[in-house]
Amino acid sequence: MKKYDVVVIGAGPGGYLSAIRCAQLGFSTACVDGELSANGKPTLGGVCLNKGCIPSKALLDSSHHYAFIKNQAAEHGINVSGIRLDIHKMISRKERLVQKLTRGIAGLFKKNGVEWLQGQGQLLEGNQVQVTPDGKHPPDTYQVSAKHIIIATGSAPTKLPVAAIDQNRIVDSTGALAFTEVPKRLGIIGAGVIGLELGSVWSRMGAEVVILEALDEFLAPVDRDIAVAAAKLFEKQGLDIQLGARVTGTGLNNHEVSVAYEQAGEKQKLAFDKLVVAVGRSPNVAGLGAEAVGLALSRRGAIEVDNYCATNLPDVYAIGDVVRGPMLAHKAAEEGIMVAERLAGQDRALNLELVPWVIYTWPEIAWVGKTETELQAAGAKYKTGLFPMAASGRAQAAGDTDGMMKMISAADTDQLLGVHILAPNASELVAEAVLAMEFDGSAEDIARTIHAHPTLSEAMHEAALATDQRALHI
Ligand code: FAD
Ligand code: AMP
Repeated sequence: MKKYDVVVIGAGPGGYLSAIRCAQLGFSTACVDGELSANGKPTLGGVCLNKGCIPSKALLDSSHHYAFIKNQAAEHGINVSGIRLDIHKMISRKERLVQKLTRGIAGLFKKNGVEWLQGQGQLLEGNQVQVTPDGKHPPDTYQVSAKHIIIATGSAPTKLPVAAIDQNRIVDSTGALAFTEVPKRLGIIGAGVIGLELGSVWSRMGAEVVILEALDEFLAPVDRDIAVAAAKLFEKQGLDIQLGARVTGTGLNNHEVSVAYEQAGEKQKLAFDKLVVAVGRSPNVAGLGAEAVGLALSRRGAIEVDNYCATNLPDVYAIGDVVRGPMLAHKAAEEGIMVAERLAGQDRALNLELVPWVIYTWPEIAWVGKTETELQAAGAKYKTGLFPMAASGRAQAAGDTDGMMKMISAADTDQLLGVHILAPNASELVAEAVLAMEFDGSAEDIARTIHAHPTLSEAMHEAALATDQRALHI
C-alpha cells in the first residue's frame, strides 16, 4: 500500500490548493478526486472550475457585453446594428475556458509533485483511503495510507422534492450554465446568490425571468440599504422577483413546466419553458464513509470542525463547502492553505468574519463584516457613511451610476465593522475593505489613504469621510 504524508480528498479550490501548498512545504502529497466533466472525462478543479465560479462568470461577462451593446452603447455614441446572439459560440467559449483552467491544475499538480489519484475516495480505519477509479469495478479499487487526511469534498445543489431535476426542463445550476438556446420564459426557485446570477445571465439575453423566493425578505444576509436598492435595480432590469412565494409542486408536459406556489395564503400557478432550482447547496458526504469511521457531522450534514479545520478524528481535517461557514471558493482555498501550513508547524489562523461575499449581478454586490441589522441585534454603537455611485466622476464617465458604497465603523473607536458595496466591480473594490479590516483599520485610515482619481475606489474614500459627515462630493 502506497503511503503519503498527506492525502487530500477532493480537488476543488479547497483541495487542489491545499494539496499544492502541502507539496510546496515538502510533504509527499496525493489528491483523490472523482469529478467528471460534462463529456464524462476526469477533471480537476471541482465545482468552482467545472460548473460554478468560472463558467458562471464567463456567461455573466458575455451576457454583460451583449446587454451593454444593446442598451448602453448608443449612449456612448456607438451605434451598432445587426446584433446577433450566437449562444453556441458563447457556450463553447465557456467550455474552452473551463478546459484550459482545469488542465492548468493538472499542470500545477505535475509541477509541484502532487499525485492525482482519479476516483472516489472513501475513509477507512487507520488513516487509510480507498480509491475507486471511474468506470472501474470494485475489484479495481485500491487503498492508500496517509499521516494526515484533508477532506475537501465540497457541496452539491440542494434537492427540492417537489421539483425533481431532469436536466432538461427542470435543471440545477449546472444545467442552467449549458442551455443551448435562450428560454423564452425562465422560472428560478430561490433568489439567493446563484439564482440571481443565473437570472441575470438569461434575462440579459432576452428570457422573461421570474424568481420565486420563499422568504419575505429579499437577500436576507445582505445589508438592508443595499438589498432594497438592489431589488429596485433588478426589477428595472426585468427580473420579476416574487417574495414570500413557496413552491409546492411542479408538473411537466412536452412544452412546458408548470409551477405551483403559495404566496400570502393564495395558491398560484405559472408556466415556464425551463425551471432552475437554486435553493442552496448541501455538503458532499455521501460515499465518504463518515459513519463507519466515526467522523462527526452536524445536523445539516456538514463535517464538524474546530477553528483550525480539525475534525473529531486525529490527523483528519476538513475544509471548504463540506464544513461550516460561507460556501465560497476563496474561503475553501484559504482554509486549505491554513491546514497545510499548520501541518508544517506554522502558526496560521483564519478569521471567517473577514471573508468577503460577492453576488455577481450588475451592479455587483460585495461586502465584508457586519450589516447594520446584525450590529443593532448585538446592541453595538456605530456610525455609518453612505456615498451614492451617482456622485462618482468615474461612474458617470462609464455611464454606470447605480448603487452605493456604505461604511460602518464603531461609534467610539472608529474601527471598521462592515463595508457594503452595490457598484460596478464591487467584487474588486471590496478587497480594500477586507485588507483594512484585517489590519483592524478605522474609517479614518481609509479617509487618510490616497485613492487614485478618477476611480470607483474614490467612493470608498468618500464613504469613509461620510462616517464623519465630511464627504466632499455629496
Ligand atoms: P468543490 O469545488 O465542491 O469540490 C469538491 C470536489 O471533490 C469535486 O471535484 C467533487 O467531485 C470531489 N469529491 C466529492 N466527494 C468525493 C469523494 N468521496 N472522493 C473523491 N472526490 C470527491 N464561489 C465563489 O467564491 N465565487 C463565485 O463566483 C462562485 N460562483 C458559483 C457559481 C455557481 C453556479 C456555483 C454552483 C457555485 C459558485 N461558487 C462561487 C461556490 C464555489 O463553487 C464553492 O464554494 C467552491 O467550489 C467550494 O470549493 P470546495 O473545494 O470546498 O469543493
Ligand atoms: P442561497 O442559499 O444563497 O443559494 O439561496 C437559496 C434561496 O432559495 C434562499 O433564499 C431560500 O430562501 C430559497 N428557497 C429555499 N427553498 C425554497 C422554496 N421551496 N421555494 C422558494 N424559495 C426557496
